[in-house]
Amino acid sequence: MKAARLHQYNHPLQIDEVDLPKPKGEGVLVKVSGAGVCHSDIHFMKGEWKDALPVKLPLTVGHETAGYVEEMGESVQGFSKGDAVAVFGGWGCGICQACKGGDEQLCSMPRWPGLSQNDGGYAEYIHVPSYRFLVKVDGLDPKNIAPLTDAGLTPYRAVKKVRHLLNPNTYTLLFGVGGLGCYAIQYLKLFSPTNVIAVVRSEDKANLAKKMGSDFVINSRTNNVIAEVKKITSNQGIDVAIDVVSSNETLTTGMSCLRKKGTMVIVGLMGNSFNLPIMESVLNEFRVIGSLWGNYNELTEVLSLAKMNKLQIPVNHYKLSDVGKAIENLESGKICGRAVLIP
Ligand SMILES: [Zn+2]
Ligand SMILES: [Zn+2]
Repeated sequence: MKAARLHQYNHPLQIDEVDLPKPKGEGVLVKVSGAGVCHSDIHFMKGEWKDALPVKLPLTVGHETAGYVEEMGESVQGFSKGDAVAVFGGWGCGICQACKGGDEQLCSMPRWPGLSQNDGGYAEYIHVPSYRFLVKVDGLDPKNIAPLTDAGLTPYRAVKKVRHLLNPNTYTLLFGVGGLGCYAIQYLKLFSPTNVIAVVRSEDKANLAKKMGSDFVINSRTNNVIAEVKKITSNQGIDVAIDVVSSNETLTTGMSCLRKKGTMVIVGLMGNSFNLPIMESVLNEFRVIGSLWGNYNELTEVLSLAKMNKLQIPVNHYKLSDVGKAIENLESGKICGRAVLIP
């Protein structure tokens, strides 16, 4: 089968011909219909995470995958060849405290396809170590819903953490309307009456934010975000900021926009650290929380929203052989929605 593999950090992926994996036990071979291209893949390919997530190269990249069951190990139950499935990417051990609590993406010995020592979905087939990590998606087209396994799932968990704070008088500031931000806006509008202010860096993304339902949009290339937020909120400030970029700059700006008892949710992984002003944090009772991916049940909830036709899923399809182009366009901010590789 063909697979787009990383042989060396900071080098382009190579399309290699590799052996088809043979599933055993609980393992399942899934024929990939679509594989989403995520900013995390770029961080990984640049070697930025090589100390935190050491892996042996070459490795097939890709952690947003959906397709059809092709072959199963002898212990697999409840699945048949040809079933349309989404692949949950938090391949937990199943027995640590986080896994027992249902949050396998927080496993103490995490395995993530295409980011740790397991080949990912930029290939014609992906080997999934257990059928526990598959969700049936009858009635949905796997090549379109692949992004829901991360771009759709990650902001879902982040918004769930704060939705009880969002009454009609509140403002929510969202940094970034790329693959994840599109869904963050939709969940905020689905689950709450909050006023959404999206911060973008281009006219295309501004239009996309409005299409997804954002009430206000600030272009940070042409406008001062803090001044615009003051104007929009009549100096009140922001109740919740969700940062799916999380550069040092966006986090610092977001903290400056919070009102008393405001909450910052850190989702993106662009930066490395930012200064938290101690005096203001205590006097204003700020809350700062992190949010990692989503759990299996949350993925089934996201897929249910898609089945109910409640989600817009903007995708740009690329051939697997054009993976380099897809990555280049993602890095330069040219993709509206998610780039999805079609093997
Ligand atoms: Zn991702
Ligand atoms: Zn575990």
